Formats: sequence, C-alpha cells, structure tokens
Amino acid sequence: MSNTTYIPQSAMAIVAHPDDIEFGCVGTVARWVQAGAKVAYVLVTSGDVGIAEAGMTKAKATEIREVETLAAAKIVGVEDVTFLREPDGMVENTMTLRKQLVRQIRRFRPEVVIAMDPTIMYTPLGGINHPDHRAVGGATMDAIFPASGQPNLFQELEEEGFYAHKVRKVYVSSRGEGDTFVDISSTIDLKIQALQAHVSQVGAMEGLEQRIRDWSARIGVGKEMANAEAFRVLVMQTDEAWAKAQSNPTVH
Ligand SMILES: [Zn+2]
Repeated sequence: MSNTTYIPQSAMAIVAHPDDIEFGCVGTVARWVQAGAKVAYVLVTSGDVGIAEAGMTKAKATEIREVETLAAAKIVGVEDVTFLREPDGMVENTMTLRKQLVRQIRRFRPEVVIAMDPTIMYTPLGGINHPDHRAVGGATMDAIFPASGQPNLFQELEEEGFYAHKVRKVYVSSRGEGDTFVDISSTIDLKIQALQAHVSQVGAMEGLEQRIRDWSARIGVGKEMANAEAFRVLVMQTDEAWAKAQSNPTVH
C-alpha cells in the first residue's frame, strides 16, 4: 500500500458519464492541478438519458449536462474537456471507441490516465455496476495497452499529427479498495462543489455532502488521512524507462 505524494506532470481522466469524475477522483485531480499538473477530461457519453423529466429530450439533456460538466471542471481548474457523445446507456467497447480514445491519448500525451475499473460487476451496496462504466473501463485499458504506444496500430492517426505515446501509469478509480490512496483533505470542499455543479443529478439528493464526506473519511481510516480517494495503480513504464523517454523525445 502506498500513500502517494506522487504528482504527475499531466493526467487524462476517461469516464463514461458527466459526474463520474466528481464522484470518483476529482479530489485527486484538484490536488494535482494545484501542484501544477495539466489535466484533461474525456467523457464518452454526455449522459443524455440521465435526466428524468417530462418533456426532456436527449439533445436537451446533452446540452444541460455538458454545461454542468464544464462548470464542474472549471471549479478544479480543468479546461481541456472532450465529449465523444456516444449514446448514454449503450456504450460498447468497440474498435471505433478504442481508436477515439487512442486519438485523445496521443493528442494530450498524459503521464497518467485515470480510468474506470472494467472488472467491477457489482457495486459495494449489492447493485450492478453500470454497463457503460465497464465498457468505458475496458476500452480505456485497450486503448492504453498496447494501442496508444504502438506506432503500427492506428497508424493513420499520424496523418492527424497524433503519434504513438506510452502512458506511464494508470490510476484505476476505486470505490474504496486499492493499493494507492490520495489524501484529499485539502480538496474535499472542491470535490463537493464540483459535484454540486451537476445540478440535474444531485440537486435533489438529500444529504449528498455528508455522504461524500463520510465516504472519503472511511477510505482515509488507518492511513492518517481525514479524507482520501482510492486507486489501483498500474505501472506501465518503469521510472527509468519514463525518464529515458522524456530525455529522448521521439522526433517526428
Ligand atoms: Zn456513471
């Protein structure tokens, strides 16, 4: 178990829906941004079926939720936000989605990708994990390895100026279990504010703030952290390989 103080230079969070980042990892994002990291968000869907209101259309819901997402991102200082606009509730881990994610990874060239966990089928409270979460988690893993770092896969992206990039680490977002815990005591207030920017989702949720505080406090128990977020970290490149890649940037 590591209680990490590691700060990447750049990170890209890839999620299924507006508010997934805020529930899962925005306390960590806020810390990293404050420490100087560049962070980008990729949202595979815009949550177009997520507003249950009479007269609501998918187009209108998309608009509302993208505005909320940008507001939430701004609260923690993230401006690079990409919406892929796949259909909410129907995401599949296809080659087309993999290529879109490879394009984003090669464009932004993040040191760390924050990903959803494709292996979670059941939620801690005994429910079913959303199929979009599993599909996006799987597509993200498949985009990171080997596709993004393999120049001979999706070679046509070179025509758009996007060359192979090997991610250093993957932070797989977790509801509590994990091998790496980030202390978010200094950013828990920002996490709650960012979450509250998703008015269409959390506006009517009773006791949300307390639930988030309790949840992050539970993760911090035994780790000398008042509030924490949990991850499972995959090391895709050793420190030596990463340092070497940084000092010898490939010339295109
Ligand atoms: Zn979600």
